Amino acid sequence: MAYPTFNHPRFIVDAMLGNIAKKLRLFGFDTEYQSDIDDEFLIKKALAQTRIVITKDKRLYQTLKESEIIALLPSSNIELRILVEILNQCNISHVNILPNPFTRCTLCNGLLITIKKILAIDSIPWKVFERIDIVYRCTKCSKVYWNGTHIRQINEQVQEINKHLDYYGSI
Ligand SMILES: [Zn+2]
Repeated sequence: MAYPTFNHPRFIVDAMLGNIAKKLRLFGFDTEYQSDIDDEFLIKKALAQTRIVITKDKRLYQTLKESEIIALLPSSNIELRILVEILNQCNISHVNILPNPFTRCTLCNGLLITIKKILAIDSIPWKVFERIDIVYRCTKCSKVYWNGTHIRQINEQVQEINKHLDYYGSI
């Protein structure tokens, strides 16, 4: 079953799926995640912010359905397969898997901005500093990313996921 196309779906991820939240942020999706979030708060937040809930908890999933909240219950336990399930169910084909890459902090979901690399001189190992040109900083928690790690991680993941996505989505 596929849901209607969501151009820029926003997610809220259940406490058990922290790695999935991190990956969705890496792809640029606005993704709420707290490791200690309780069900009641999660439901309130999903409703208030129109977020798609991703959970492995069948009981919670049932409650969400009854509250008419869009929820996904991935059947796999393998990270890559879970991501593919989520993206396929939201009809995100590999044409548009990266709506806004390099825009979200994987730690806190804050927005990233590019900064002059000299401003991050204290946060980047010297050997790396000389080789890189693009530096991002999170506007919320100030974590620094550079093209070596961040972009390579995204590219590797995207290539792997693209192999498994429905090419045409539901068009
Ligand atoms: Zn951050």
